Amino acid sequence: MSKQLVQIGMDDIDSPEGGCTTHFASLLVEKLNKKNVEWMDYPNLIRLNPGIPYRTRGNGAVALRFRVDQNEVASLSGMVEDLIHNYVDNKYPNTNPGVVFLFNEVPKQVRDLAKLAMWRVVPIELAQRLVTRYKINHYAQGNERGLIGALASVANDLSEDYTYEYIAYRALKDCKESRGVDAESVLAMNQKMGNRVFSNIDPATNKILIEPHGPDPVIFGVRGEKAEYVIEAAKQVRSAQQVERWLVFRTNQGTGGHLKHQVEIKNLRPYMATVVIGKVNIKPKMTEGGHVIFSITDESGSVDCAAYEPSGEFRETIMKLKVGDLVGVYSGVRPASRTHGLTLNLEGIEVKELAKTSVFSNPLCPSCGKRMKSAGRGKGFKCTKCGLKDTEITKIETVVKREIHAGFYLPPARAQRHLTRPLVRMDKANSGKASHLVAKWYSH
Ligand code: ATP
Repeated sequence: MSKQLVQIGMDDIDSPEGGCTTHFASLLVEKLNKKNVEWMDYPNLIRLNPGIPYRTRGNGAVALRFRVDQNEVASLSGMVEDLIHNYVDNKYPNTNPGVVFLFNEVPKQVRDLAKLAMWRVVPIELAQRLVTRYKINHYAQGNERGLIGALASVANDLSEDYTYEYIAYRALKDCKESRGVDAESVLAMNQKMGNRVFSNIDPATNKILIEPHGPDPVIFGVRGEKAEYVIEAAKQVRSAQQVERWLVFRTNQGTGGHLKHQVEIKNLRPYMATVVIGKVNIKPKMTEGGHVIFSITDESGSVDCAAYEPSGEFRETIMKLKVGDLVGVYSGVRPASRTHGLTLNLEGIEVKELAKTSVFSNPLCPSCGKRMKSAGRGKGFKCTKCGLKDTEITKIETVVKREIHAGFYLPPARAQRHLTRPLVRMDKANSGKASHLVAKWYSH
């Protein structure tokens, strides 16, 4: 029997027990496997604009891509809807599930929406208009906001760069208990795996980063460059709680995919993820709460920039900036409030050019070597030891040695976003499609 390509995008599928879209996707993968589907890709975990105010956690959406027998296609949407009804509680606030089913090529306008969703706020109406215009088979509940992430994930082919994450889940009934991920096992795994994995620990504090802290079903997630690596790494992680299921995702995490757009200061809007290039015009100051605030200016205006207390040692780097330094501020735009104007929340900084700063001191006497004194305005310098006077001699300029170099700086791993491109990935890009799927990329 001939098979049909099916791509399903989904988002905002939360449950009162703490479920999340990736966990829901793992249940759906299990169901689909019973239908003998041929997987075209690993499930894709697509992180969207991290500044979106109504996200629950990391603003993640999921796309599944597979081929299935023609006679199974008609039953798919009913199957997904039933699964959602069982998973989501209608009365649970702030859950607006959206699912889309595509059977053909993804329309260009949907691909454009996907690009926008990485760094702007996409209006719900745009997503609704596109599903109507292109007659996209879909399911949505509540205010239908989930359609945005559903479309944005299905239309993102991860062609520029991608990484992998192995996510281990516990049973929903266990979500109130502690996970008990064994830190020693994570540190040993990280050591052994080297740069094949990333963002699993915070090297500055040795804190492990793979274990979330909320009441969600994720026990831990290991990130890396290949599916084989994250599977090998996850086998080395021990946890007190039992792993009920696991799944490998191909993902845009660690790619910096949200920070690709440079915007002039006058064009900044709340919740954008953007790069702003400007010169420091107010030097950094530490507030009582430990946040560091400075301002930059470009030809169109100036804007405050903030490195908050949790960004730890990154603030020390920021404090070394001086007026006149040319920087690229990688940031999320925080709206203005009663107490502050529009602010760039720093996620990274590129120091492009350091301003030259000098100190001036009186010259040394050419005859006896003693430091000279001014002989009065416009009258040069005189030596108090040997009496030499010189009207031509000028002050000595000493260029101040800066404590910071041109380069790219990031907050420590513990304060980075899912999408942040970590320093170890700066020169890496996994381009093209996943060449093949490993034999076992899910637990059931
Ligand atoms: P979960 O892990 O449970 O999915 P989450 O942190 O991913 O949690 P959601 O509960 O999915 O957050 O909420 C995010 C909502 O924001 C979704 O409805 C999604 O469609 C929508 N959304 C995502 N990106 C954008 C964007 N750029 N513009 C507007 N809405 C967006």
